[in-house]
Amino acid sequence: MGMLVSVGKGFKVGGFDFAVDTSPQAHRMVTANNNFGECDLRNHTISLSSDIDETLLSKTFIHEVIEAVNNIYCDNGIPHDKIQQLSFGLHQALESLDVRFGVKNEEVQA
Ligand SMILES: [Zn+2]
Repeated sequence: MGMLVSVGKGFKVGGFDFAVDTSPQAHRMVTANNNFGECDLRNHTISLSSDIDETLLSKTFIHEVIEAVNNIYCDNGIPHDKIQQLSFGLHQALESLDVRFGVKNEEVQA
């Protein structure tokens, strides 16, 4: 795999700073909800399970970013099944470009 783009520092959408939480607490929360990731649109935080394989983590991150974009720019107009399809296709394109989103070991939060 080529480039691992680190998500730990967070990102911006529409002037909002989004945090990315990969802590054990985030893992427990999303797992309890039967998810791999969640996007908290009120607190601008994406929580990701830290116990999934690299490709699934990257795909889940892309999905949650699209949830954020959908909220901020699309007035939540993209139905959830379309968000799934968009994230699947975008993930494929980025994988083919050797771009994967992930967490560098030194960034894993306690
Ligand atoms: Zn979703």
